[in-house]
Amino acid sequence: MEYNWCHGPSCHKQQTQDRIRGVKGSKVLRTKKIKVFDPLPRYYQGWENHFCKLGCLMDFIREHLNDVIALGPRRECLETPINDPVKTRHSNSYHSWYDTEITVDETRQR
Ligand SMILES: [Zn+2]
Repeated sequence: MEYNWCHGPSCHKQQTQDRIRGVKGSKVLRTKKIKVFDPLPRYYQGWENHFCKLGCLMDFIREHLNDVIALGPRRECLETPINDPVKTRHSNSYHSWYDTEITVDETRQR
């Protein structure tokens, strides 16, 4: 089984019992070890192989956000061509509302 250390910059500072390691007199709180899944289980998104929890992922992003953005900077907006939206009015005896149906125009896809 392959393992990664959690990449959360403060993972080793969180005071939980499962992080305590070492012998009496020289105990430490240690970064959590993560079991690597390959292939990823269907419900995984990928970050789970590198971070023990979402909080550690967010700490990492907070610390390295500028570097992460530099990997794929967005200098202009993106657009998805759509057909003219169809607005439909619905009502029941209590209230009425509108639904807007948005469909992608496949003929204008790049
Ligand atoms: Zn962690």
